[in-house]
Amino acid sequence: MIRTALVVGGGIAGPATAMALRKAGIDATVYEADTAPRDGAFLTLAPNGIDALRVLEADDAALADAFPTPGITLRSTTGKVLGDVTVSGMKSYTLRRSDLYRALHDEAVARDIPVLTGKRFVGLTQTATGVRAEFADGSTAAGDVLIGADGIYSAVRRAIDPTAPPPVYAGLVGNGGFAPPIAAVDATPGHYEMIFGRRAFFGYVVAPDRAVWWFANVPRRTEPARGELATIDWRTRLTELFADDAGPALAVIAATPALLPMDPIQSIRGLRAWHAGRVALVGDAAHAPTPTSGQGASLSIEDGLMLAKCLRDHADPADAFTRFEAARRPRVEQIVKAAARNNSSKAAGPVGRVIRDAMMPAILRLPATSNAQRKIYDYHVDWSAAAR
Ligand SMILES: Cc1cc2nc3c(=O)[nH]c(=O)nc-3n(C[C@H](O)[C@H](O)[C@H](O)COP(=O)(O)OP(=O)(O)OC[C@H]3O[C@@H](n4cnc5c(N)ncnc54)[C@H](O)[C@@H]3O)c2cc1C
Repeated sequence: MIRTALVVGGGIAGPATAMALRKAGIDATVYEADTAPRDGAFLTLAPNGIDALRVLEADDAALADAFPTPGITLRSTTGKVLGDVTVSGMKSYTLRRSDLYRALHDEAVARDIPVLTGKRFVGLTQTATGVRAEFADGSTAAGDVLIGADGIYSAVRRAIDPTAPPPVYAGLVGNGGFAPPIAAVDATPGHYEMIFGRRAFFGYVVAPDRAVWWFANVPRRTEPARGELATIDWRTRLTELFADDAGPALAVIAATPALLPMDPIQSIRGLRAWHAGRVALVGDAAHAPTPTSGQGASLSIEDGLMLAKCLRDHADPADAFTRFEAARRPRVEQIVKAAARNNSSKAAGPVGRVIRDAMMPAILRLPATSNAQRKIYDYHVDWSAAAR
């Protein structure tokens, strides 16, 4: 019988998993390395992620500062519409990453789940009956199981498999920012505009207060060395890259007081296993799709629910974790793979661009496309059903 869990990482998967474990009658404590929620860009919670939050009864709290984003228009470098994708039924919501982190943290704390900050996990030892975590401050903690929810650079992943592959570079670097309302942008609030530019990809959405939330993806063949991207003047570089494209990229970038740091876009896929003994991985630690999928956060929340269900219904942790991985892996890997394919359309060369622009409207109309999308969005973790 599992009674206590150590959850390493207090981002999205961590608090969601801890709340799900609590719902399953298991006491969880969250150990987060940072002492304050990280700032950063924004993200979109898809209908499936919101559904998972609803099962946790945390959707209202998580979406308090979010706004609905039901549709996307894809455009070519000339501004020609390549396709319109509108989610029917349940909508996606967009919010700042820091607001989501804070909301999930506060919700976990309100449910009497201890969330300890300044606790950087550095190692673990397992016995037949439990697991002990070690932290950089010299402290330790013991529990029946340990869940690694410590993101794409997971230290828990390395602890259970030192040979696990590192994140895979996607051939793109990305950044973004928040611009105040500007006349050059008259898009409908909540409707994403995405432009396959001549040299780089630009996406933006107008928030309800008419501020412009935007991101840029820039193709770059070789993975940048650590610290290299910080040496580049990105305001100037992006201005050059978007100079020949239709759309408001130049005006938006010029109006943005401070650009967010440029980072390489990476994924985690194809791990040998998501668990070892009494330790399991959830969220980006186990499988990180690139941002193109718009699914990383939503999958992390689904993971937490499914993992808790498996631990609720199977007394042996190895058995529970095997079932968790079997239930989740096919779905997650399909999404990670599809996102990798989409990245290559953002990084297309001149010939690829012509083919992409010609094919995109037809691809978006294919029933298979909407069926695949519906399958992703319609996913539901049935909490009352037994985990098989
Ligand atoms: C630019 C960008 C845009 C994105 N856009 C979207 C989007 O629109 N929609 C979407 O669904 N997803 C998006 N994603 C992906 C999404 O952000 C991730 O999938 C999601 O954050 C995964 O949650 P997580 O909790 O697993 O990891 P994280 O959110 O990374 O949380 C991990 C936590 O673990 C902590 N931690 C790390 N190491 C340790 C340690 N050793 N000890 C203790 N704590 C530790 C970290 O401080 C952090 O708080 C985007 C990602 C990027 C980079």
